[in-house]
Amino acid sequence: MTTDRSDADDRVPVERDLVQRNVVQSDREPLDPVQRDVMGLDLRSDCSRCVGLCCVALGFTRSSAFAFDKRPGTPCQNLSGDHRCRIHTELRERGMTGCTVYECFGGGQKVSQLLYAGRSWRDDPATASAMFADFHAVQNLHELLWYLTEVLTIEAAEPIHGDVTVLVDELTGATGDLDALHSVDPLAMPDVVGPLLEKAVALARPTGPDHRRADLAGRRLTDLRAADLRSASLMGADLRGADLREADLLGADLRGADLRAADLSTAFFVTPSQVAPARGDATTRLPGRLGAAPSHWV
Ligand code: SF4
Repeated sequence: MTTDRSDADDRVPVERDLVQRNVVQSDREPLDPVQRDVMGLDLRSDCSRCVGLCCVALGFTRSSAFAFDKRPGTPCQNLSGDHRCRIHTELRERGMTGCTVYECFGGGQKVSQLLYAGRSWRDDPATASAMFADFHAVQNLHELLWYLTEVLTIEAAEPIHGDVTVLVDELTGATGDLDALHSVDPLAMPDVVGPLLEKAVALARPTGPDHRRADLAGRRLTDLRAADLRSASLMGADLRGADLREADLLGADLRGADLRAADLSTAFFVTPSQVAPARGDATTRLPGRLGAAPSHWV
């Protein structure tokens, strides 16, 4: 997984070499956010409880998504002394769209508040690099928790809920203190999580078009119900009005895709950072877990 906030390839780590299987019909009812965020995990960014970790730890390069270069580990020129962004309300106008689509999956506040007990990289520059490395690790593990907790909301995946719960407990524990975090290899965990996500979709996704890893950039597509779009490129695709219910979107690249009037309400493994770089509006139906549509859509 990249830790750069540029809009370069941003695929998830659980996408590789997973085997497609036959599926059975699942008619998922949208669940409310409380049900979806089972086990009370805090898997969405809350900048108000973070010490600006992403604005320091990550790097980006001048591009259509960023107005200037920033090296990893250096504070952004727009970061204020109280860890707030000075241009927060005008990021897009200032050429910083990359910042508006970033999601740490709650890693920022967990590292800031729990693992480092409110200490800032400013307070203790000697430990800053360790803090940034821990932020990367927690973010990666929290992204995996995002997918795993979704599986626990999928009724058809009930046969594997026990195994998934064990893994959720394990990853939650691994992000609970620094010793535990340093005892796991975050880069190895996708190989543990990936097969379970594959099993979940095998149990829950009806048969649909196979577009796994397909290059669909710029294409006009509408009939994508239950499609396997895992790791597919949909960059700039015209998906207006598309039926994406029960589609597997794990790792699909939706940057610049037009999702107006598209229905993703029961799509699998959709993340906030995946849909934010797409184009949508009030007619786009997103999974309930994502909450409100990105503010720049309206
Ligand atoms: S522009 Fe604002 S949100 Fe983006 S990295 Fe800089 S301080 Fe953070």
